[in-house]
Amino acid sequence: MRHFPAFLDLRGRTCLVLGEGEVAERKSAPLLAAGASIRHATCFDPALLDGGVALAVGTPEAAEACLLALSREAQARGIPVNVVDRPELCSFITPAIVDRDPVTIAISTGGAAPTLARMVRQKVEAVLSPNLGLLAALAERFQSAVRRALPNLAARRAFLDRALTGRAAELALAGRVAEAERAFASELASADAAPRGFVWLVGAGPGAADLLTLRALRLLGEADVIVHDRLVSEEVLATARRDAERIFVGKSRANHCLPQEGINALLVSLAREGRRVVRLKGGDPLVFGRGGEEAEALAAAGIPFAIVPGVTAALACAAQAGIPLTHRDAARSVTFVTGHTKEGRLDMDFAALSRIGGTIAVYMGVTALPGLSAGLVAAGMDPATPAALVENGGSAACRLVRGTLAGLAALGQPSPSPALLLLGEAVALGHAPSLPMREATLA
Ligand code: SAH
Repeated sequence: MRHFPAFLDLRGRTCLVLGEGEVAERKSAPLLAAGASIRHATCFDPALLDGGVALAVGTPEAAEACLLALSREAQARGIPVNVVDRPELCSFITPAIVDRDPVTIAISTGGAAPTLARMVRQKVEAVLSPNLGLLAALAERFQSAVRRALPNLAARRAFLDRALTGRAAELALAGRVAEAERAFASELASADAAPRGFVWLVGAGPGAADLLTLRALRLLGEADVIVHDRLVSEEVLATARRDAERIFVGKSRANHCLPQEGINALLVSLAREGRRVVRLKGGDPLVFGRGGEEAEALAAAGIPFAIVPGVTAALACAAQAGIPLTHRDAARSVTFVTGHTKEGRLDMDFAALSRIGGTIAVYMGVTALPGLSAGLVAAGMDPATPAALVENGGSAACRLVRGTLAGLAALGQPSPSPALLLLGEAVALGHAPSLPMREATLA
């Protein structure tokens, strides 16, 4: 950049203009418009710069010797000086100006092509409403009211983005200032009364905070409220904003603190209060997490929402145990199923599962292990199919038990910790990573 652009406050200041005539008048006009008073002279005398002169302008209407002396003396005193058409005598240059007071646009080519600067100015003049200044003045009149109503910077910016392009702006640009003011005031009142809530359905992963996605981490730092259930670890919750409200909505198997409809209604009402809600769910929100039902409820209520994926239990457990979910020789597919029982009955298509083969990840299946084993063997699956039960996958408290399909019943006792069953030929492959983990092998 050849020159640093800046806008000077010249109100009440004195500016020296050397020369008398048309050019001097043209150069004086913007200085006067900026509130300066002009000291006119035809010839230079150093005393003309006394008394706190803010800047000096020389015109071709003054004698050459006077212009040289003006430039030298002003620069010696640190007073900005411009001599018209004599760049070598200038310490500042004057831009082409588009004036929409209080909006001022200054255009400079750094002296390279003043004609080009004028062309640019014409283009800018053409695209800007002549009433742009009225809009800026409107925003200025509401500046402190906006700051008071919306102390949060992001909220204020969002409001101004809307207000300066909305109805009030249109009226101001049409020159209808009084109506514009009323519209702006009412937009501001409703911005305050009904800030727009938002719900993020966020996957918290298997428990370790460093298995959160960066997006989840950022949202946890921004949310006003966090609605979470049992599967979300303390470690993950600790990453949330300190002053965020936390609401526990329970959900351990068959022991719901709040029924799903209650959770849906809670999310809707929090968002209606204008709060930024993170609904935090263990693993991934869309894998046996009822994220779909919550999304449906939010959509039905007209609440804007977004979904952030998380590391689902099957992925975390497989990684921790070093079990390949797919394997070119042993597993061409992975199936996620729930071992959840309805009125004590396993609602599972055993025939289909044994036909698909590949790796089967059973969520919520610990209490159903004996039934699962009997069902799959009866459907034709090899009783020797390798099995692994991973408890607390993805956390330091992880526990891995290996066995076979026939021995499933012996693998797990119902425990308060979440556990996932992995089943299939690939389960016997792979290598356990060098992480501390208790391991037992069943015959
Ligand atoms: N949305 C979750 C699953 C919720 S269903 C996800 O994507 O992971 C709850 C079941 O997930 C539990 O019964 C258990 O089978 C499994 N699960 C969740 N977290 C687990 C963990 N850390 N280790 C092992 N299994 C887990």
